[in-house]
Amino acid sequence: MEKTLVIFKPSAVERGLVGRILARFENKGLIIEGIKMMQLTEEILREHYAHLVDRPFFPSLLRSMTATPVIVLCLKGNDAINVVRMMTGATNGRKAQPGTIRGDFSVSGQENVVHASSSPEDAEVEIARFFRPEEIIEWTPAGIGFIYEPDER
Ligand code: UDP
Ligand code: MG
Repeated sequence: MEKTLVIFKPSAVERGLVGRILARFENKGLIIEGIKMMQLTEEILREHYAHLVDRPFFPSLLRSMTATPVIVLCLKGNDAINVVRMMTGATNGRKAQPGTIRGDFSVSGQENVVHASSSPEDAEVEIARFFRPEEIIEWTPAGIGFIYEPDER
């Protein structure tokens, strides 16, 4: 099964949305294999948002992402990267579909409450960026047969 990296951004932590957003992923059937709180630094964000460092809004994004600690998660599931991106919704909370996390909890292009890996290549690099190998716990819920049929696992 695939693993993906999710960040509950300062906009989620500060607004007390952590429990509600986490519940959505649990409700969906995604399996938590890593979860921790950490303070992001400019150094890690310059790597994580390397595709954005030259954009005019990058200093603002940097301030936003370091404003409070964040919670990073590694979620596992069949097609987890795509499933989590669909649940996350469009980048700008004003354009994200209602029913998505950003669509329901954000009205901002920057303060959009979650990050989610956007490809298998990114997911692998991002999980290694935010977690040490021993912080990812491989496990299978006892009730896996009620989440997937055998061929889907
Ligand atoms: N962002 C922003 N303004 C923009 C584009 C992006 O503030 O015009 C921020 C926003 O917080 C977004 C993050 O930069 O989530 C990463 O941007 P990306 O294009 O990778 O979007 P995402 O993958 O988060 O949907
Ligand atoms: Mg992105």
